[in-house]
Amino acid sequence: MVKQVYTFGGGVKHSDPRSRDKVICGGKGANLAEMAGIGLPVPPGFTITTEECVKYLAEGAEFSDQLRADVAEALTHIEKTVGKSFGDASDPLLVSVRSGARVSMPGMMDTVLNLGLNDETVQGLVSASGDERFAWDSYRRFIQMYSDVVLGVEHHLFEEALEIAKEDNGYVNDVELSASDWQKIVKEYKAIVEKELDKPFPQDVQEQLWGAIRAVFDSWDSDRAKVYRRLNDIPGGWGTAVNVQAMVFGNMGDTSATGVAFTRDPATGEKAYYGEWLVNAQGEDVVAGIRTPQYLTKAARERAGAKPLSMEEAMPEAYQQLADVFELLEKHYKDMQDIEFTVERGKLWMLQTRSGKRTAKAALKMAVDMVAEGLIDEKTAILRVDPMALDQLLHPTLDPNAARDVLGKGLPASPGAASGAIVLDADTAEKRAEMGEAVILVRVETSPEDIHGMHAAKGILTARGGMTSHAAVVARGMGRCCVSGASGVSIDMKSRTLRIGNRELKEGDVITLDGSTGDIMAGEVPTVEPELAGDFAELMIWADKHRRMKVRTNAETPADCKMARQFGAEGIGLCRTEHMFFDASRISAVRQMILAEDEAGRRAALEKLLPEQRDDFAQIFMVMAGLPVTIRLLDPPLHEFLPQGDAEFAELSETIGIGVDTLKRRADELHEMNPMLGHRGCRLGITFPEIYEMQARAIFEAACEVAERLGDAPVPEVMIPLVATKRELAILRKLVDDTAAKVLAEKGRSLDYMVGTMIELPRAALMAGEIAEEAKFFSFGTNDLTQTTLGVSRDDAARFLSPYVEKGIYARDPFVSLDIEGVGQLVQLGADRGRATRADLKLGICGEHGGDPASIAFCEKVGLDYVSASPFRVPIARLAAAQAALAG
Ligand code: PEP
Ligand code: MG
Repeated sequence: MVKQVYTFGGGVKHSDPRSRDKVICGGKGANLAEMAGIGLPVPPGFTITTEECVKYLAEGAEFSDQLRADVAEALTHIEKTVGKSFGDASDPLLVSVRSGARVSMPGMMDTVLNLGLNDETVQGLVSASGDERFAWDSYRRFIQMYSDVVLGVEHHLFEEALEIAKEDNGYVNDVELSASDWQKIVKEYKAIVEKELDKPFPQDVQEQLWGAIRAVFDSWDSDRAKVYRRLNDIPGGWGTAVNVQAMVFGNMGDTSATGVAFTRDPATGEKAYYGEWLVNAQGEDVVAGIRTPQYLTKAARERAGAKPLSMEEAMPEAYQQLADVFELLEKHYKDMQDIEFTVERGKLWMLQTRSGKRTAKAALKMAVDMVAEGLIDEKTAILRVDPMALDQLLHPTLDPNAARDVLGKGLPASPGAASGAIVLDADTAEKRAEMGEAVILVRVETSPEDIHGMHAAKGILTARGGMTSHAAVVARGMGRCCVSGASGVSIDMKSRTLRIGNRELKEGDVITLDGSTGDIMAGEVPTVEPELAGDFAELMIWADKHRRMKVRTNAETPADCKMARQFGAEGIGLCRTEHMFFDASRISAVRQMILAEDEAGRRAALEKLLPEQRDDFAQIFMVMAGLPVTIRLLDPPLHEFLPQGDAEFAELSETIGIGVDTLKRRADELHEMNPMLGHRGCRLGITFPEIYEMQARAIFEAACEVAERLGDAPVPEVMIPLVATKRELAILRKLVDDTAAKVLAEKGRSLDYMVGTMIELPRAALMAGEIAEEAKFFSFGTNDLTQTTLGVSRDDAARFLSPYVEKGIYARDPFVSLDIEGVGQLVQLGADRGRATRADLKLGICGEHGGDPASIAFCEKVGLDYVSASPFRVPIARLAAAQAALAG
């Protein structure tokens, strides 16, 4: 039988590697075992595996007898180690119960602390601790947490009861409540539970424990966990582990404390301890943002100009123990660690460690610094940075020279800049964002229920909470800009207005956040384009050393081409010429061409387009000098260019001198039932060769012109779209070759160029061997290949694909991340058959998947020569290609 419950602490030897495996014991459980194993002070406990969770959920929420027996035995291990018994009325063992998946999912399930308290054991805690107030406070916390998390009694009912009790006594802060006050509150809390549930708060400690285990398992399928999984591509089949651990208390007076810390700054990456703590407090007080936590180090406190003493100053000995642990953990894990600790009467206890979430900026700095420190090598540094996170750095930042109307300031919790309309709740944020509006979610504090609104918002502002609050942690994870703990912000939900400093604002007003300084500004502040410099540039150079595939870009304007080059694009993989047709200066000519009744009419219109296209291509060749440029001939269904509405028809009629009725009749004739499978792609070239002829002429004339100007000729790669048969390509290749020959003869020049095709229909992949006889290169158009292989319209998929992903039918949206199992087979097959015919066939991908790290890893396996991605994705693709090469 494979073990499903693993103990840690109390001298347990972790000989079974499963006990330190995140997949089996979750991140939290595995790291607790690992920390205990290297001799760090970890309260004893046990972990129930993720496998057990998966089994429990599959088998209809039943616990097996084996599990019950294993848990009983593991509990005995804790009891023996701490010398207390669970449920003992004189000196009870209390435990915490926490979830812990393979990757951290902040806020998926709240922790239950102080489990094991009841009306009897609370008396035991009074005598054992010698602190009556502490014991009753612990009991009321337990009832509140357990009722909220396990029994589903709403949190606010308890909060309100507490507020009323405080008001009645004239208290402002919780610390003013005495032992007997807390005892009364416990009574009230129990009454609330009984009223809500029609049964008393459970007194049986075993029932408490199993209730909590059940709640953790069930929380894996809670709505918020599902949303989090969807946003972070976490498979539903992983399950969560459950960690049960002996309690240690940070709320046993002024020599006790609790805190969270990072071994380096998770926002900037700076090598400085970074964290927050609270004296005489219990676990969740720090993250919940209810009491404002204090700085960990003296330097940080002084920098912020804060008064309350840092832990370094207030508890120097415990702080030194902690600093020693930081050093040890970084050396052991060779990465920045995110830590939870408690000091109980002067003694430090470690409750958690994990690789800390970080901003992209911090990830880059840490990776580069750690190489310099000799902690990791270049390859590890490359593998350490999440390519998708780079997206955060590839967006505009606030113009440092722009005027700022600063309304107030908070903590710089997650960098970046964002402007948008104020929204005061998550649902509104989601709704307004869906309508295309940029919104800033403003909350007193965020909770896991807000996650969809946080995702929809461009930025997040909270009035309460520190740098490690829920909002800050989640925002950093998502790469959203966040300003937290802005105490000058007060919100009135009734009138849906807010005050920032002395200014009144209302929902819908536009503000700007600077997540790097904490500034909150009125209106929209102008931004500047991002650049690739510093640590970012350094890591990219390392990545380039290790990647095999080239990275090109999909671009068609000189500005995009320029930007892509700055981001390191090594050529253009797809220039979609139709985008040039939409330009205001030529749309009339395009429409005239489409609506013409015969070839002569089309040629007349194409005549007007030729110089414009030639100029487009010349500009691109100039910007991309020295690099390959793949230009795709016209692809989309023609109706996309047709006039919309009477006004546009009238205007066109005026310009080209053909009656509106005639134009409308032609438009009707062009109507297609299923345009994506209709008269598009190379079918246009077959039926109206003069269109492709004009485009080919424009390409070669532009190439000659640029060769003249630069003294160095570009190498155009002419690409034919939507080919299904060899014959189609043969006809069109001849057309391009003939046109090239004519132009080159006219110019008296020679020029290297290539003709190739997109592989974007299943038949093309299947017949790739034959098609390669006519093609010098293939570019996999995985957008259309996905559409045609799955039989799913790419334009309509958004409406029904989400439920497909939620139900696990597709692990991810197949238009975002390649369906490797299915569509991937066609790519593999197309590449193999093509290369069998032509060994030097150049292979690339230019569908959206060319910028998706998982798809890029697949392209590396297939052995493609390059991937092509949109300009902003180029750095992501460079890093992902390096990671793929290193992983291979
Ligand atoms: C494709 O189909 O993958 C492709 C790149 O072409 P488009 O998206 O323009 O159809
Ligand atoms: Mg296509």
